Amino acid sequence: MVIHVCDEAKNLKQDFHCPRDLLVREMRYFAEYLSTDAQRWEEVDISVHCDVQIFDWLMKYVKRATHREGQGPPKLEASSVISILISSDFLKMDNLVEECIQFCHRNMSPIVATPCNMNCINDKLVSRISDLYNHNEADDVKDRKDKFKSKLFGKLLEKLFDPSIANSCSPESAASLFKCAVCKKVLNTNLAKRINCLPSRMIIDRCGQLAYSHTPDPSFDVGDYLIDLKGQLKTWRDVYWRIWGSINFLSCSRCSETFPCTELGQCKFHPDTPLFHGNSLSGKYPCCGLQILRFDPSQQNKGCKLRDHIVNLSESGMKEPIGSKEQNIKAKQRVYEDLLSHREAVCMPHQKVLTMTNE
Ligand SMILES: [Zn+2]
Ligand SMILES: [Zn+2]
Ligand SMILES: [Zn+2]
Repeated sequence: MVIHVCDEAKNLKQDFHCPRDLLVREMRYFAEYLSTDAQRWEEVDISVHCDVQIFDWLMKYVKRATHREGQGPPKLEASSVISILISSDFLKMDNLVEECIQFCHRNMSPIVATPCNMNCINDKLVSRISDLYNHNEADDVKDRKDKFKSKLFGKLLEKLFDPSIANSCSPESAASLFKCAVCKKVLNTNLAKRINCLPSRMIIDRCGQLAYSHTPDPSFDVGDYLIDLKGQLKTWRDVYWRIWGSINFLSCSRCSETFPCTELGQCKFHPDTPLFHGNSLSGKYPCCGLQILRFDPSQQNKGCKLRDHIVNLSESGMKEPIGSKEQNIKAKQRVYEDLLSHREAVCMPHQKVLTMTNE
């Protein structure tokens, strides 16, 4: 069977020959167009618009089983894999598409350094490539012109919001993300159970324990929030890490609070010890002048200065553990490691810390 290839960009035409059984089996696109009626096949004239070199590569791939010795199947290269991926997807060469996707995962940095056009890759293929990445691998991609990294983090961000996906990069899901109308924090429902709202929201629960309940702001729109963050942080990579850090949490063995990863540097402390006059019930911190009682039931005035929390990875640092003990500790360890290696993107800048008041 003859395939006429027309390369408009290079203004070239070339004919390729291929047995029709092989062609139909390897390039399933043709199977749909070529009638099963063998007699009519002779009359069919196939014409393809494609880069001649790419089609030549594809033909060598199709005929890989019949190659003479010493002439193995053609190899994928960073400079041509994107064209081959797009053509093989169009021609329905499923095995080759899979090979290209795997190759992209292993070689993204050299691929985006070539003059290829990554915008030609359709969304389905972008998803399939992105599915192979964990967030650390995605962050390691060197992509100076941002040809693919933002697409990659866009997909990882989508996954954070998909409650149906068990995400090994993020024990917590952003599906329940909301903004508290009172303390203005953006958190998910799991984290909301573990961190305090403002003292004015303090309630005493049925067991006589002090508890804090956050109040979802009904006007909060996740889409708008993400767009705002993108404007502020500039890249989808940074938006991803900020959201990841807002929903995943650890606990501190010093202040014994649970905190979102974005607040790693916000363990509150007073550099000075409080001074009490005689038997007086109230005293003062010399560092900030904060008046305190010997016994502070609200436990809110933990300090006027900030330092890093001391992360507690033992099970005692986890309220309501889900899954096995080892699994929980491993998941927390991973969150902590990821936090440390991406701290500059995850953590809130310090000037945004709420100033302490003498309430
Ligand atoms: Zn709140
Ligand atoms: Zn102080
Ligand atoms: Zn702490």
